[in-house]
Amino acid sequence: MNIGVLAFQGGVIEHIKATKDAAKKLGLKCDVVAVKYKNDFNELDGLIIPGGESTTLWKLIEREGIVDKIKSVKAIFGTCAGAIMIAKKVKGLVDEQKSLDLVDIETDRNAYGPQTESFETDIETALGKMHAVFIRAPKINVEKNVRVLGKLNNEIVAAEQRTKDKFYLITSFHPELTTTLFHEYFLRTTSRL
Ligand code: GLN
Repeated sequence: MNIGVLAFQGGVIEHIKATKDAAKKLGLKCDVVAVKYKNDFNELDGLIIPGGESTTLWKLIEREGIVDKIKSVKAIFGTCAGAIMIAKKVKGLVDEQKSLDLVDIETDRNAYGPQTESFETDIETALGKMHAVFIRAPKINVEKNVRVLGKLNNEIVAAEQRTKDKFYLITSFHPELTTTLFHEYFLRTTSRL
């Protein structure tokens, strides 16, 4: 398999490592590459969009002309800003920012509060218990065809949407910092598409 990690900013190195560790645990042969430019997108089975800052990420993918390239990838895992990037609806867009308009979720940017309200906590998810780091995270609402994979109190923190040939996975926190469970799930499901 070929998995790309969008490499403009955010937890790029951490996602590459978590994906490689996940592939090893699963015994999957998997190349993990940093992607930024049009030609990097040939033959990707899946793409990870890390956290960072979604206004900046949007500007950079527009500048590089890769909006359609990203939209055509069959499996995408978006964490935090990455989840904002692939949501169909986003509250709090600024400047010329748009979204990739792929997943039936609404994200509310920075809804847990400013940077000083960032926090860590243990959460339970459909994939198991894990420690989760929330950094200026968005809150998430989902449509009926989206499956919730994790909640913290009453807030949705992880979800997935599958259609005939597409798979989207999102978290509002940063699994790449503490666990490989989400990366394993992404690889397992993507390998069956
Ligand atoms: N607050 C950022 C945004 O709205 C996301 C933060 C993150 O990815 N950790 O884009």
